[in-house]
Order: sequence, then C-alpha cells, then structure tokens
Amino acid sequence: MNFCLKSTGAAIDFTIETRMRAMMLEKIGAPLVFREIPRPTLKPGQVLVRISACAVCRTDLHVVDGELPNPKLPLIPGHEIIGRVEALGESADRFNPGARVGIPWVADARFCFPIPDAFDDTSAAPLLCAGLIGYRALRKTGDAHRLGLYGFGAAAHIIAQVARFQGRQVFAFTRPGDFARREFARKLGAVWAGGSDETPPVELDAAIIFAPAGALVPVALRAVSKGGTVVCGGIHMSDIPSFPYRDLWEERVICSVANLTRRDGEEFLDIAARIPLQTATQTFALEQANEALRQLRNGDLMGAAVLTIS
Ligand SMILES: [Zn+2]
Repeated sequence: MNFCLKSTGAAIDFTIETRMRAMMLEKIGAPLVFREIPRPTLKPGQVLVRISACAVCRTDLHVVDGELPNPKLPLIPGHEIIGRVEALGESADRFNPGARVGIPWVADARFCFPIPDAFDDTSAAPLLCAGLIGYRALRKTGDAHRLGLYGFGAAAHIIAQVARFQGRQVFAFTRPGDFARREFARKLGAVWAGGSDETPPVELDAAIIFAPAGALVPVALRAVSKGGTVVCGGIHMSDIPSFPYRDLWEERVICSVANLTRRDGEEFLDIAARIPLQTATQTFALEQANEALRQLRNGDLMGAAVLTIS
C-alpha cells in the first residue's frame, strides 16, 4: 500500500496499516534509501491516499542532486501521484473513500483532482506535473500558432499533443544528435524536429524551454518573431549567458512558470481526456526509484518514468 499526505510523500508504499514503505532522500547526492516508516496522521482538510503510481519529475532529480536550495531532509520525493482515497481528515468532504485522485503537490483535498476514466493509473501520473506545469507554460504563450518546444521529455511530449489539438504547429528541439527523440516528436505531431543548435524553417510565435539549460534562452529568443514569448518551464535552470539586447528588443518577452492554479488543473485534465492524450511511460517498481532517476539524468527515457506500486 502506498499513502501520501504532504508535499513530500509520493514514493510511499504501505504494507501494514500502521507502517508505510518509502524511498527516502536522507543525504543530498546519495541514492534514495528504502525505509519502512510510520503511517502519517491526518490533519483537518487532508485526505490519506493509497498510492498506486507516481511519475518521476525532473524536479525530483534536481532535489536529489542538490540543485535546489535547502531541502528539508529526510524527505520522500515524488509529486505526480495517482491513488485512492483511504481516509478523510476533518472537513475534507470533497471526495469519498475509494475515489481515485491525482495529486500534484499536497494532499489537501482542495488540490486533489478527480482523474478522467480515459486514463489508467500509470498513464495518468505524468499528467500531474509534467502535464500541469507544461499546460501552464503553454497558456503563457497565448494564442501563439508556431510553437517551439526545447527539450522533448515528459512535459513536451504531453504539451505537443495539447498544442496540436488546439490547432497549433509544434517545432521540437532536441539535443544535437538525438535523432530518436526527433522521430518521437514527429510521431506525436511535430511539423518539424531538429537540434537545439538548428534554426527552425520559419520564425516561431513562442517557445517553451523544458530543458534545464539556461543557454537555450538566448537561442530561443533568436528563434521567435517580434513580440514573441519565451517561457522557461522548469523550476531549475543553469545560468543564462549574457546576450545582445537586440535579441530581446521588439517586445519579445521572457517569463517563467512557478505556480499552479486549480483552474489550470481542471482545464488541463478536461482537455487531456478529450484529445485523448497518450502518455509514453516507462514503469519501475518503487524500489527501483534510483534507477528511474539515473535514466532521467542520462536522458535515456522517452516520455516519463513512473513508479508503480501494487
Ligand atoms: Zn514536477
């Protein structure tokens, strides 16, 4: 069994009612450690969720690798969670016990989402951060028709499908030489796929940078037309190198994405079910979380890694 109660608490699995299994980060830069720990107690407004699937996000990797400041250790990484409501805290009356929910950050009942039937647990998990944050980034591009996506991982493979559904054209940028990923992007409807060192065949109206590489900001700025927007879609990025003001001039905009509203979540899950969105996933057992992180770090994954808990 598997429960989630707080922002840190996805990769958890309960074996007996008072204990739960978890992969924990105890030391920055060290592998996660398997532990059996006491089951959390419910606070008012919270729901206790038995977790069945949890996707692995690049943010988890940034935390484990010590790229984000001051993580509170020990912690249980994971914030793309699918599970079933096991118990309700005081005044948490939005869901009934047994309801299937998706949880992006905290298991406050107000921020749990009902998951459309079109998705099984594994395919739904990456929607909770890669999808939600990606969708928020997409909204920031307004009605941009020609959309560039830099870094074609978990988030981009979802957002490419949404963008196409909305009638936009997707231009996918991968690492130089990553031809397999370009093929993957074309299969998902990209009209063009090339290396991030290449110039797209037309000027873009907007670009979203999902890769955590600050060097891509000036690159993307040069690829967008006057008034175009470059959205930085990650929580962490390496430093942005200096660039000539000329590349920003003519009302180009750079912005980032940090917060998620409930409206974003509901809107996105509704669109996801209508497309219907296909998520590419690679599954790992809870105990294989370190291997999932390793493959994400090395860029070996096509789509999203998901930990599944039976
Ligand atoms: Zn995330």
